Formats: sequence, C-alpha cells, structure tokens
Amino acid sequence: MSISNNLLKIKSTLPEHVTLVAVSKTKPVSDLMEGYEAGQRIFGENKIQEMAEKWEQMPKDIQWHMIGHVQTNKVKFMAQFVSLIHGVDSLKLVQEINKQALKHNRIIDCLLQIHIAEEETKFGLDEEELASLLSSNEFQELKNIRIVGLMGMATFTDHKDQIKKEFTHLKSIFDQFTIHNSQFTILSMGMSGDYQLAIECGSTMVRIGSSIFGGRN
Ligand SMILES: *Cc1c(COP(=O)(O)O)cnc(C)c1O
Repeated sequence: MSISNNLLKIKSTLPEHVTLVAVSKTKPVSDLMEGYEAGQRIFGENKIQEMAEKWEQMPKDIQWHMIGHVQTNKVKFMAQFVSLIHGVDSLKLVQEINKQALKHNRIIDCLLQIHIAEEETKFGLDEEELASLLSSNEFQELKNIRIVGLMGMATFTDHKDQIKKEFTHLKSIFDQFTIHNSQFTILSMGMSGDYQLAIECGSTMVRIGSSIFGGRN
C-alpha cells in the first residue's frame, strides 16, 4: 500500500468531527509530500528541529503540530509557525510559549497533556495540577497562548480494557473542564494501534503515524 492509499483509507473511516494528524516524524519530505498531494494538510512531528526543517522545505499551507515533549529552550524555534502544541504540561512551558508567541505577534494554540497511562515515564499533568494551572493568576494573565483542549497517551499494552479505561478517564476530565471553558474543543487521543477505540471514547483528534507512513526504525 502507498502512503496516499493508506491516508485516504484511514480518512474514509474517520467520523466528520475527528481531525487526522499525520504523524511524519523521522520520515523524509518526499513521504510527507505524497501525503500532501493526497490532500493532507496537518502533520505531526515530535522534534522541533526536524519540524522546522520540514516547514522550511514544504508548502506554507501546512499546519504543523508539535506532538512530542517540548523543552522550554527550544520553543523559540517553532514559535513563528507552529499551529498546535499538544504536549504542554507545566506553567513554565506555558509562560515560555506565551513569551515567544508575543515576539511574533501571534496567539499559539496548545493542548495540556494529561497523564493517564500506568507507565511512570509518560509526561503529563494529573487532574489536580490541571485545575490549579488553569485557575492560577500567572496563567490567566497570558494573552498569547490559548488552551484549546487536552491530549493524552494510553498505556502501551494489548489490554483493550485498560486502554479504554484510560481514554474514558481522559474524556471525563475533558467534559468536566469544557463546562467552564468554552475554548476547550479538542481532545487529542489515539494513535495507529488504538485510534478506533479512542474515537469510541470521545476523541476529536487522532495522531496516526505508522499506519500511514509505515514503520519507523
Ligand atoms: C509517534 C507518535 C504518534 C504516532 O504513533 P503511531 O503508532 O506511529 O501511529 C502519536 N502520538 C505521539 C505523541 C507520538 O509520539
């Protein structure tokens, strides 16, 4: 199967309210261009340097999503062009994104990452930290960052019940905060292995890499 075939096949199965982020990390520009020519305009990368290089080389109507963990000192390399940052999980990072967005006279959309997996290694806030971040004065003063929803990654496991439990938990947090925050519209959950389940649990944005571009080394 070609990249364009994979892409169109997956797109045809997604409900209309679900946005597809084509995760192109480690893949060459020629692969991304194949997706672009098949109509894809949203690409996800997990390294800022790599994303910036691809942004320079590719058509300017692409929306670039940063889906990886973001180091504060690298925000400046994407502030000019990034369309959505998925993995935001600290006030310090929020403040740096705001600062860099201001320099470019932009408002940058972000998702707060929530820790839902069992693994200790996955980044993210818990429910309490989310509430305290959103209600803090330091956060509310910021004018150049907009939190538009939440992102989460389930445990890497074959146990569907476990994954479903984690997605459902994230969805319930999302619903709870949507009530107080009308800008909360995006729930980013689901990857190649679990996106159908994520959609059943309420995802509005799926991040799919290997099912489109093939495996990575
Ligand atoms: C790599 C990655 C994906 C895509 O993973 P696939 O299993 O290849 O679909 C999704 N989300 C994040 C945060 C990733 O790092």
